[in-house]
Amino acid sequence: MSRIEEADVVIIGGGITAAMVAEKLTEEHDVDVIIVEAGTHSSPFDDRFAHRQRYMDYGENPWPDDHIEDQYADGIMSRSMVVGGQALHWGGTTPRYTPEDFRHHSMFGIHQDWPVDYETMDPYYQEAEERIGIAGEQGPEPLDPRGAPYPMPAVPLSWTLERLREWVNEAGVPTWSNPVSKNTVPWRGRNVCQRCDTCNVCPTGAKYTPEFSFQQMLAAGRIRLHPRTIIRRLELADGSDQIHAAVGRSYDDPETDVIYRAKTFVLAAGYTWSPHLLLLSAQGRFSEGLANSSGCVGRYMAGHRNVGAMVDLPMRLLPGMFFGHSLISKYFQRPTAAGGPGLPNGFMRHDFRVWESTAARGPRLRDEAGSLLLGDDLMADWRTRTATGTARLRGYYDIIPDRDSRVSLHASQRNRFGDPLPQLDFRDAPVSRDLRGATEASISALFERLAAAAGGTVTRTFADETQDHPGGGCRMGDDASDSVVDSWGRTHDHDNLFVVGAPTMVSGGCNNGTLTFSALSLRSAEEIGREYPAHATP
Ligand SMILES: Cc1cc2nc3c(=O)[nH]c(=O)nc-3n(C[C@H](O)[C@H](O)[C@H](O)COP(=O)(O)OP(=O)(O)OC[C@H]3O[C@@H](n4cnc5c(N)ncnc54)[C@H](O)[C@@H]3O)c2cc1C
Ligand code: SF4
Repeated sequence: MSRIEEADVVIIGGGITAAMVAEKLTEEHDVDVIIVEAGTHSSPFDDRFAHRQRYMDYGENPWPDDHIEDQYADGIMSRSMVVGGQALHWGGTTPRYTPEDFRHHSMFGIHQDWPVDYETMDPYYQEAEERIGIAGEQGPEPLDPRGAPYPMPAVPLSWTLERLREWVNEAGVPTWSNPVSKNTVPWRGRNVCQRCDTCNVCPTGAKYTPEFSFQQMLAAGRIRLHPRTIIRRLELADGSDQIHAAVGRSYDDPETDVIYRAKTFVLAAGYTWSPHLLLLSAQGRFSEGLANSSGCVGRYMAGHRNVGAMVDLPMRLLPGMFFGHSLISKYFQRPTAAGGPGLPNGFMRHDFRVWESTAARGPRLRDEAGSLLLGDDLMADWRTRTATGTARLRGYYDIIPDRDSRVSLHASQRNRFGDPLPQLDFRDAPVSRDLRGATEASISALFERLAAAAGGTVTRTFADETQDHPGGGCRMGDDASDSVVDSWGRTHDHDNLFVVGAPTMVSGGCNNGTLTFSALSLRSAEEIGREYPAHATP
């Protein structure tokens, strides 16, 4: 049994990168778009306030059905498979990469340059910031280069974060308000942030999540969205290297093949599932996977690790008012830019973040003995516990991915349809492995120096074992023999198949990556759009 669906463009995956591609394409072109998403709709906006309340009262998951039981991978991964993807759960922290992130080879003589540079990406970064809605503060030049101002004024710093900013700035590290996808003015039909600090489930819509884009496009009749439908393989046209169909199954009608036909196929399924689908689709002369004549599909998986610390400070801090917000610095990310500290360890660079900490210091209604605190007693208790303060520091550092940093097909684990599941194995290239100890020691020494500058002490340092904000698996490049897609995300092997966002990264940068994934996706959408007529009036 089979059912056929046809469109100009079929987008596989319904996360933030799919939202960016669909928004731009359908805003600028006459084009019929279907988005196919394996997951379901979770917590529609009208129900969100109630879900948040139950989360606060009983600790219930505010995002029911946000994953698919038999879709998982061995290795560290996010299980989110849902309309909106992982960004339904994201923190909304949206710094840009810096120029160095795109130029490892020409600047440091290691790894590879990306086929795009920061200057090329600047307008796409700006467009992503406007579509998502980013509130940010311009950092000092040249640490934070940008072609135009942030779309929205920065989220205001709490009194405590202002004190922490004074501390690190006086110690020589310039910091500024971290850019976030939280509205400080009404934006694209969404509300303003109320600083209520429950950002993993935002009741006002002030934090951008991709299902807002989908709802708006659906209401305007600009897309068709097929949730609960998983694509199992891509098929080549007879005697051609073009993709002819994407074949899937609906979880609501699991016996029937759904065959999607389109002129253009866009793989927006994230860093695990995009290379996985290409490997699953091996056929004909592409016996090792579609788009894989280079052998690079599933390789060079990239991300960054972090070193963190808790610092006790001899200063009064009053934490607990918008504690999710933070300070950022690119001082150690742009070490050779004017005013930067230079490169202490070869090519290694890291970002720098500062948060307040409510640990044992937030206002409370009961004391240690469980007695109720009211009025003056409550204030006296808080004053006593906040005579000194605690800060949390973190640095994400640059890792060069090994060729064997991989997603591959698992030898035995399969989903309900009998398809092999992915296996993830992240590995540092030798050049990063050799520098790991020195880098982590250098970041720890920075934390010690900052603590000492205020007469404080580092009480705990921790180094993460896993890589955050992963990407790769379909890396971009100008040379088709060692990359999967070109700088636009078009696969070298199939001219009507694009891979967008995270999987196309060459290296993992050293801060949160989703703004970069979104900007890359908008650049892909520009190229895809050239095939379709522009709207007469935008
Ligand atoms: C808790 C959390 C906090 C985070 N915070 C931040 C942050 O503050 N800043 C930041 O930059 N990043 C953050 N991230 C990371 C960020 O959310 C992701 O980088 C981003 O959402 C990835 O978007 P994507 O479109 O590439 O992929 P995804 O969001 O993974 O979307 C891909 C979608 O494709 C679907 N799919 C996969 N395979 C198929 C198939 N075969 N057929 C149909 N559909 C398929 C999946 O179900 C999924 O919904 C966070 C992530 C998590 C989990
Ligand atoms: S502080 Fe409240 S309103 Fe603002 S983004 Fe977070 S949850 Fe939404």
